[in-house]
Amino acid sequence: MQVVLWRYFAVFTVLIIAVVSIVCSGILGSAYSTQARDRISALGSGLTHVIDGKTSAFVGEVVGEMNRYAFSEGIDIFVVGVEGRPVICTVEPPDNWDEIFGELNSAVNGWTQGRQTIYSSGTMFNYASCLTFDNEQCYLLVRYPLFIVQQSVSSMQVYIIIIAAVAIVLAFIISYVLAQRISRPIRDISATATRMAKGDYSVQFASAEFEEIAQLSESLNYAKDEIKKSDDFQKELLANVSHDLRTPLTMIKAYASMVKEISGDDPQKRNRHLQVIIDESDRLTGLVNDILNASKVSAGLSELNKKVFNLTDFVYGIMNKFDYLQETSGYKFYVDIDPNMYTFADEEKIYQVIYNLVSNAVNYTGEDKCVYVSLKDRPESSRIRFAVRDTGKGISDEEKEHIWDRYYRSKDAHARPVKGTGLGLNIVKIILQAHSFDFGVQSQKGNGSTFYVDFPEVSSEPDK
Ligand code: ADP
Repeated sequence: MQVVLWRYFAVFTVLIIAVVSIVCSGILGSAYSTQARDRISALGSGLTHVIDGKTSAFVGEVVGEMNRYAFSEGIDIFVVGVEGRPVICTVEPPDNWDEIFGELNSAVNGWTQGRQTIYSSGTMFNYASCLTFDNEQCYLLVRYPLFIVQQSVSSMQVYIIIIAAVAIVLAFIISYVLAQRISRPIRDISATATRMAKGDYSVQFASAEFEEIAQLSESLNYAKDEIKKSDDFQKELLANVSHDLRTPLTMIKAYASMVKEISGDDPQKRNRHLQVIIDESDRLTGLVNDILNASKVSAGLSELNKKVFNLTDFVYGIMNKFDYLQETSGYKFYVDIDPNMYTFADEEKIYQVIYNLVSNAVNYTGEDKCVYVSLKDRPESSRIRFAVRDTGKGISDEEKEHIWDRYYRSKDAHARPVKGTGLGLNIVKIILQAHSFDFGVQSQKGNGSTFYVDFPEVSSEPDK
């Protein structure tokens, strides 16, 4: 990460510097040239004014003025006769004077009083004008060395190179520090994850300065807690299940032997013993079903298969299944169901929901063994409310937050000891959330509980 970050920083810095240098040398270079051109034009015009029309009587004044200009501006000034003979010069004419005069001639293109021109040749900027000195036609030639302009541009380039070097070093330092700050928490997280993978769930993913990494840590801590819960549960479940399975199996075997050897001929005894076998088999089936359903639902194996169905008949159908409890165990079911209501849902899954909620009411209701089931139309919200109430110990506010969690089981003693798995309400929650139905529990400690589900109400014939 460090190397990658540094590479990006370096490329970015180099790009910026390249753009800045190109812009600077282009714009500033041409700005300097224009400035130089303006300057030489101003100097040339000033000198032309001083020299033009003067006679030899003023030669001292002219020479003085020319030297002053030459000295202060770093330029060479020549007054030349039209045939090329230098008349007054601030420096000795250079060796290639003929060549210089040739260029002057072609730039001026014939002497015409007052004409002025600016041209560049080799490393010089030149100003030429046509004037008369000592009653002779002459040229004024002012030469301005280009290196003055180049010097300014190249000193600017030196600055740019220095800035570039400093910027690259800074980029390196910043990217190094940044990469360290980003990668250290990631390395910590990965080390912690390795420890967790080896089965150490006591680890804690540390929070970090960057929000995204802090969020990652938080999610990993959450995942770790969930994995730990599931791991604990698996261990606990294995212990519980083997215990729970063994008890009814032992009973079934014992009672079956009794039927075979003792009570076979006594119908009353035999029936009692067979009922124990049936009850224990039911418990076994319930236990195995819960475990299978929970793993099926949580693995998301089952897709929702929604259709319109008669909820009224459906709930009646489920309540009929509990009839035997009325007859055998003294339970009392109070059922209040509105007629002919239809909903749109996955029938098989909703069966599990209602069955689990009614089973819980049966398991947790009070000594009076009363369970109240209602299915009521709520036309104002186009909903049908299913509710099941018991008279048990109720659920405290603190517990209400947990009862929907997988494997949660209350430690409280209820009217009858319940051999549950803590999966029933979790299955209910997963199914209802998949349907996006409202559901919940209203309960106060000591005052029974009411679990409810709001189903959408639909017309009986969906296609019309
Ligand atoms: P199980 O019933 O197998 O323990 P559930 O997921 O169905 O698992 O319920 C989780 C917990 O919620 C139960 O252990 C119990 O404490 C509480 N609970 C569920 N239904 C009721 C109820 N009707 N009255 C009181 N407590 C309940």
